[in-house]
Amino acid sequence: MTESGAKPPARPVHLFEPDPAAAKPEEPTKPVSTPRPAAASGSSPRLLLKDLGVTYIGSQGEPIEAVKGCEVEVPDKPGVGEIVVLLGPSGCGKSTILKCIAGLLRPTHGLVTVSGVPVEGVGRDRGMVFQAYTSFGWLTVRENVEYGLKLAGVPGHQRREQSDKYLKMVGLYDFADQYPKSLSGGMKQRVAIARTLINKPKLVLMDEPFGALDPHTRWEMQTTLLDISRTEDNTIVLVTHDVSEAVYVADTCYVMSPRPTKVLHRVDVPYFGTRSAALKAAPEFRAVEKQLLDLLYAEKVGDK
Ligand code: ADP
Ligand code: MG
Repeated sequence: MTESGAKPPARPVHLFEPDPAAAKPEEPTKPVSTPRPAAASGSSPRLLLKDLGVTYIGSQGEPIEAVKGCEVEVPDKPGVGEIVVLLGPSGCGKSTILKCIAGLLRPTHGLVTVSGVPVEGVGRDRGMVFQAYTSFGWLTVRENVEYGLKLAGVPGHQRREQSDKYLKMVGLYDFADQYPKSLSGGMKQRVAIARTLINKPKLVLMDEPFGALDPHTRWEMQTTLLDISRTEDNTIVLVTHDVSEAVYVADTCYVMSPRPTKVLHRVDVPYFGTRSAALKAAPEFRAVEKQLLDLLYAEKVGDK
């Protein structure tokens, strides 16, 4: 479904065209989007990884190559939210890539740019959501969400207006005055997402954000993420090893190799029209899952 004006950095794999008749929902669904417009021509990519390489030094001084020759180009689509997924096996180097984009880790090789600007360190144009819940226990939900704006010196009434908006967006408006310890895991992660979104980053970086949640909560969170992506002008880069999650939320999925990781395939995930729990059992959904699994599995076999 995602048309990219820029030349993709890796072999694009086009899966089947979605069959609108086959995508009939079997239960109430949330409408999520209209198909996306193509990238703006001439603008810098929203995110560019150019020949990215990271080598760690192990405890015995030995080099550990985590990322090698990684190429990603996410085009800029002004006014359009988009979810890009990096799908790869555990330990391949996904978190390492995300840390380079966040500016938390300096690459050993290559370049990261966001909207044409090289990443030199952390910045407000990027926000990160980790798997571990990272809210401040001594602040209320609302204070947690407003934290970044407070640091930036935004006046109280404006903070309140914004926190109202983002608390509603993540379904936590009625819990604004509670403390994180009284919340479930999913709700804590909603705090983290609202706290990131309120800063309006161009890139929202999510490192296996739903990995610690039970399957139903996980699905609810994925659906919230889809809703957010359709209303916010940002690009979400989500890292996961979960194929079903990738198919459910991704507009574009990069299939990553084992360590040292690089992009094996760029897959435009079909537009399903509506997304629901029932969709995950539908043949067209399963077919994409199988395609992605085959792409991951083929590399593992080839490695041996
Ligand atoms: P993923 O997120 O895909 O599970 P990571 O990016 O966390 O993978 O790690 C990739 C590889 O780099 C792993 O083999 C891991 O052990 C190694 N690694 C990660 N961080 C460090 C570090 N600080 N020092 C040494 N090796 C590391
Ligand atoms: Mg990781």
